[in-house]
Amino acid sequence: MGKIIQLDNHLANMIAAGEVVEKPYSVVKELVENSIDANAKNITITLQDSGMTMIDVLDDGDGMSQDDALMAFKRHATSKIKNEHDLYRINSLGFRGEAIPSIASVSLFELSTNNGLTNGYKVTYKAGKMINEESVSMNKGTHIKVSNLFFNTPARLKYIKSLNTELAYITELIDKLALANKDIRFKLINNQKVLFQSNGQGNMQSLIANIYGIEAAKNLLYKEAFCPGVEIKLYLVKSIINKSRKNDIILICNKRYVRNTNLINALIDGYKTYLPQFRYPIAVIDIKIDPLLIDVNVHPSKLEIKFSEEDVIKYTITNATIDALKETEMIPNYNIGSKVDSYTNEKVNLETKYETQTLNFNLEKYDEPTYQKNHLYDVKKEYSFEKNEEKIKQTPNISNTKKEDYRKTFPSFEYIGTLHGTYLLFQNEEGLFLVDQHAAEERINYEYYYHFFEKESVQTIDLLIPINVNCTKNELLFLLENKDKLTKIGFHLEESGLNSFFIRSIPTYIKNNNVEEIVKKIIYYMIEKNSVDMMILRDSLAKMIACKKSIKANHKINLEEINTLINNLKKCDNPYTCPHGRPTIVKLTTYEIEKLFKRVM
Ligand code: ZN
Ligand code: ZN
Repeated sequence: MGKIIQLDNHLANMIAAGEVVEKPYSVVKELVENSIDANAKNITITLQDSGMTMIDVLDDGDGMSQDDALMAFKRHATSKIKNEHDLYRINSLGFRGEAIPSIASVSLFELSTNNGLTNGYKVTYKAGKMINEESVSMNKGTHIKVSNLFFNTPARLKYIKSLNTELAYITELIDKLALANKDIRFKLINNQKVLFQSNGQGNMQSLIANIYGIEAAKNLLYKEAFCPGVEIKLYLVKSIINKSRKNDIILICNKRYVRNTNLINALIDGYKTYLPQFRYPIAVIDIKIDPLLIDVNVHPSKLEIKFSEEDVIKYTITNATIDALKETEMIPNYNIGSKVDSYTNEKVNLETKYETQTLNFNLEKYDEPTYQKNHLYDVKKEYSFEKNEEKIKQTPNISNTKKEDYRKTFPSFEYIGTLHGTYLLFQNEEGLFLVDQHAAEERINYEYYYHFFEKESVQTIDLLIPINVNCTKNELLFLLENKDKLTKIGFHLEESGLNSFFIRSIPTYIKNNNVEEIVKKIIYYMIEKNSVDMMILRDSLAKMIACKKSIKANHKINLEEINTLINNLKKCDNPYTCPHGRPTIVKLTTYEIEKLFKRVM
């Protein structure tokens, strides 16, 4: 009997519900995922006009027998699922047997396959009808060619935005499939131009270099973490390189590319103050999990998946990320002539994106990284819940390990002067360091206040003259609802009319500041977020106070103050960025300086 079996009706309908082949993107996805499932080692995707004219997928996988090949055109045929339970086990990718008949019904569809046991077999369908079958000679594997997609359903064509957009979707898809399947060699070609190629050597760093550029690969960190039944591998690009969207945080679960907003956010939480506002990291979360721990309440056609112990996994990801970042030096290195400017909005248009990808295409280059080897993959450290609990119990140990962390990563340097009363200059054998005094002190103050607010009791003082704050009726209702939470952080509010309230007392830590401004900011912040999350509140309050309390630019400080500043900065959990994610220290290496003076080339 062939490998492909017919699904029972109930299951078939479940699958059909989410099944629409609506764009070249979905065709490529289905076909490539089928190749992955067939254990292919090489998958070549050749497109003509972003797939609109032709999509060709060639693999060297298991191939099919003639019977299986014919069965593939029957609705709901699949070799992967036998019952509903299997559907959720997510061990194979193309669990939707519907794909081939759907695609074949709107195109000219040629399937050639050879399972290595018999001769090769080729069958051709047009608009869902078989028009030819023959035996062919070919290597083991499957070759599918889809031409003139939607030729018989012109209405679908309307939904295709533009060839470039479509191509961008497909490129991004192949990037992600390649990240999820490091051992498979992918090649993507459009109109004779190679857009992407991976080497299939299982090397995440070369893949990152290929997809996100060499700078990202240079700044790649690796961290492993475990929680019961789950193995997590984190590939984190240092926050110096960041993006304006979350799409470059890739979640892989049991070798498939999936989505789960909670886990993505858990990783972002780990990067917390390392990133400027509205900027996101590049990272790959690779999860190996017992399929039984994947929540079955999710529609199989969706990429979105849920886990039964999601909170535990979230916690593990956040903590592992924090640890990995804490263990590394994060000083941005200024490169002469480097075009990497992560702080400006990168509006990569398609042309440039493809240009870069073609340039990066010579992969052999990356096989032996020549850059900063010691910073790469050097944070490999086991992380587990048990261990973490132990750490908490033995409090004295925490500070010990912490101190070693600083010594490991924070550079030692000597003060040589101040620029514009704003930037402190330091030197060591590596080069010149510029410290932004405001950013540095802001980081110190932020960490101080953040931990300070963690403590149970907050001291408050009553105001002699209560502050009157105007607000809308809705705002007032919201505030009264959350009065208790505000009291907890030291603010006592009292209604004073329909459109205003009094602040009766305030926490002592803000007494010397512009109380009214701070209170208003906090309150408007809460109203805007429409929630009072203590964590967020503590964080934003600490940021605000830290900024207010820190030395401003254009203010010269003396040597003693400078020493205190650097010593305190060293002790921070993250000395390298201010709480808003801007760098505190920037390095200009001796080599770069010599380059400026043309002493070296
Ligand atoms: Zn500031
Ligand atoms: Zn700042």
